[in-house]
Amino acid sequence: MHPLLQVEKLDISFTQDEEKTRAVKEISFRLEQGEMMALVGESGSGKSVTALSFLQLLPQQAGISGNIFFSSDGKEQVNLAKAGIPEMEKIRGNKIAMIFQEPMTSLNPVFTCGNQVMESLRLHQHLSKAAARQRTIELFTQVELPDPTAMLTRYPHELSGGQKQRVMIAMAISCNPALLIADEPTTALDVSVQKHILQLVKKLQLKYNMGVLLITHDLGLVAEVADSIAVMYKGELVETGPATQILSNPQNPYTQALLACRPAANSKGHRLPQVADFLSGDEPPRNDLRLPHTAKI
Ligand code: ADP
Ligand code: MG
Repeated sequence: MHPLLQVEKLDISFTQDEEKTRAVKEISFRLEQGEMMALVGESGSGKSVTALSFLQLLPQQAGISGNIFFSSDGKEQVNLAKAGIPEMEKIRGNKIAMIFQEPMTSLNPVFTCGNQVMESLRLHQHLSKAAARQRTIELFTQVELPDPTAMLTRYPHELSGGQKQRVMIAMAISCNPALLIADEPTTALDVSVQKHILQLVKKLQLKYNMGVLLITHDLGLVAEVADSIAVMYKGELVETGPATQILSNPQNPYTQALLACRPAANSKGHRLPQVADFLSGDEPPRNDLRLPHTAKI
C-alpha cells in the first residue's frame, strides 16, 4: 500500500469583479492505494471544486496553491497542482477517472451506449474495433447491466438513471484507473438505486484495488462503504479519520450535526433537525465546542 494522493495545504479561490472568494481553505489529507474515502459536506462546502482541481478542470478564474501529489505505482509522483498539459492528458481518463451526478451530461444522446464506451477504449487503449466491442460487453457485465450485448445498441434515453450511471462507471473503469473520483454519483437517483450503485462501486474498488474519492452531501449513505471519511465545512476540512471512528465517535460539532440530521436517527413524524440547529456563526466549528444539550446521538 502506498499513498495515492497527498493533498497539502490546497487552497482554491475565485476572483470575480475584483472580489475574491476562497472556496477551499488550505486543506490537507491523504488517500491510500485501494482506499475509499468519502468527502462529505453540505452543498457549497467546496467538494466539487476540490475534485476538479485534481484533474485541472477548474475554470480559468480559479487561483490554486498547495500541492496534490499523485502516485499510481508508489514510485513516480506527479504534482497535479503544477503538472503541464501533456502530463495531465496522460493522467485524465487514464490513471484518474471521474463520474458525475448527472450521467446525461457526460453521455452523448446521439450515440449508442456501446459506441461511446468502444470509442473511449479505442482512443485510450488503442484497441481494434472487435476487441473494443468484446471489452465493452465484459465491462457492461462487470457493472451488472442487464443483457450486456443488447445494451451495446441502446441509446442513453432508453436507459433508466441507474443504468446510465452504470454505463458511466463502465467507461470510467475501462482504463483501470488507480483513482476513481465519483462526485455525487447517486444524488439524482432513487433511494433504492443509490444503494445498489454504491455497492457496485465498492465491489469494483475491492476487485481492482482502486482508490475511490466518493463525494456526497449524505453522510448516512456512505456509512456502509467508506473506509475513511473527510468532512468539509465552508471550504475547510474539519475532521478526517477512519469511517468507523467518525461514525461512532465524531469529534467535530459539524460532523455530529450531520449524523444527527440523518432520518434513520430520528423517529417518524418529527421535523428533522437541521445543521443550522447545531451551529451558529460563519466560522468552521472547532472540536472543543460542545453540542447543544438537546442533541441526542
Ligand atoms: P460543493 O461541491 O461542496 O457543493 P463546490 O465545490 O461546487 O461545492 O463550490 C464551493 C464554492 O466555490 C461555492 O460556494 C462557490 O462559491 C464557489 N465556486 C464554485 N465554482 C465557482 C465558479 N466557477 N466561479 C466562482 N465561484 C465558484
Ligand atoms: Mg458539488
